[in-house]
Amino acid sequence: MQRLKVGIFSFTGDEGCVITFLEILNYKFFEWRDLVDIRYCKTLKSKNRMEGLDVAFVEGAISSEKEAKRVKEIRRNCRKLISIGSCAIDGSPSNHRNFFDKARMKEIRPVMKKFRHLKKVVPLKDIVKVDGEVPGCPMLEDAFVKCLEAELKEFGVV
Ligand code: SF4
Repeated sequence: MQRLKVGIFSFTGDEGCVITFLEILNYKFFEWRDLVDIRYCKTLKSKNRMEGLDVAFVEGAISSEKEAKRVKEIRRNCRKLISIGSCAIDGSPSNHRNFFDKARMKEIRPVMKKFRHLKKVVPLKDIVKVDGEVPGCPMLEDAFVKCLEAELKEFGVV
């Protein structure tokens, strides 16, 4: 049977949305086991691959050049990319430093430079095309379940 090939990715945030995904599996695992092929989820397994994904679910805001490059790579490897959680959707609450005053920014500038951080922490849609959103902080369980089940239908798995 054809399964939906998904990846779960994490950027700047606290991984609360990925943890929510794992909590959802507590009651959806057996139902989804034959329908969903989780190809990439570092919180769940050690061997991961991102090539040829149907859907990439991405958590977190983008705060560095390295992250921007990585999310573009994910975009090239998936047919749909969905932002999960408010950090990914609008940057908040992981974008606190965007609102620092000049003195505070001066303090952190050496660190930002060293790790090639972007001037602003930005949502995914500022870097790549985004096809959908699952709101909440952490993401709302029901909304994620609805979203994934809609993708199962869209990709002809069910
Ligand atoms: S949206 Fe909330 S729970 Fe999800 S990564 Fe950001 S801070 Fe964590």
